[in-house]
Amino acid sequence: MQEEQRSLVIVTGGTRGIGRATAVQLASEGYNIAFCGRSPSAAAEETAELIRAQGASCFHKPCDVTDFRAVDTFVKHAEEALGPASGLVNSAGIVKDNHLVMMPVEDWHSVIDTNLTGTFNFCRAVGFRMLKRRTGAIVNISSVAGVYGHATQANYAASKGGVNSLSRTLAKELARHGIRVNVVAPGFIETDMTDQLSAKAHKEAIASVPLRRFGTAQEVANLTAFLLSDKASYVTGQVLQVDGGVAL
Ligand code: NAP
Repeated sequence: MQEEQRSLVIVTGGTRGIGRATAVQLASEGYNIAFCGRSPSAAAEETAELIRAQGASCFHKPCDVTDFRAVDTFVKHAEEALGPASGLVNSAGIVKDNHLVMMPVEDWHSVIDTNLTGTFNFCRAVGFRMLKRRTGAIVNISSVAGVYGHATQANYAASKGGVNSLSRTLAKELARHGIRVNVVAPGFIETDMTDQLSAKAHKEAIASVPLRRFGTAQEVANLTAFLLSDKASYVTGQVLQVDGGVAL
């Protein structure tokens, strides 16, 4: 695809894991990419290299998704560098697992702030700009925990349930303006996030998945790229699980 035909997709949490796989997949499909992580890192530079290797232009800077002012500035600078955003993927996320009755209050707030408020902040900043242009597509990365709940993940499940509700509501608000909003809800996916599991928890998790393995970040990226594309032009307000059948 020629450079002038590429449009911009913004990916949060693009430094690693699902966000990185999504950014590289979208670059391979002809988009330019702006992505952020929380901190400057070698991983961010590696992602940028992988994006540019697909022939795409790349803008990246650290941006704390919990800070609306920083988010709005990131979006402004990304659009100044690479043009109007036609797509947004909210993949930035954290876990801080504990039984609810043992959960430090600050771990409740930090997970809600990152996963839910962070998603609101980027939807607010990018959605406002898309609204004026009356075109765009948004995919928010949630989790099966946000649909069914998961013991030791009250903060995480609540944040992801909130992302599902936020997304369905935003889909209703933006549909008449030509903008689609969907959710991808992964099950267990091989990334740094699931590397934190103990060997025992890892084994039990695999036993709970009908396909008997963890998914890959690429498998999540494939569904996300489909939902952003015109192939999904009549799909909005959906929460689609990519989970190896774990919820069956
Ligand atoms: P990961 O490998 O741990 O990567 C997390 C990403 O989020 C990193 O890019 C990180 O940036 C970024 N991030 C975290 N806090 C941030 C903040 N305050 N501001 C900006 N960026 C921030 O995680 P992952 O497994 O790819 O997860 C991606 C998404 O999928 C998350 O929303 C997660 O909840 C969801 N998910 C994952 C799984 C799974 O099994 N892996 C399952 C269901 C849902 P830095 O590199 O700078 O830290």
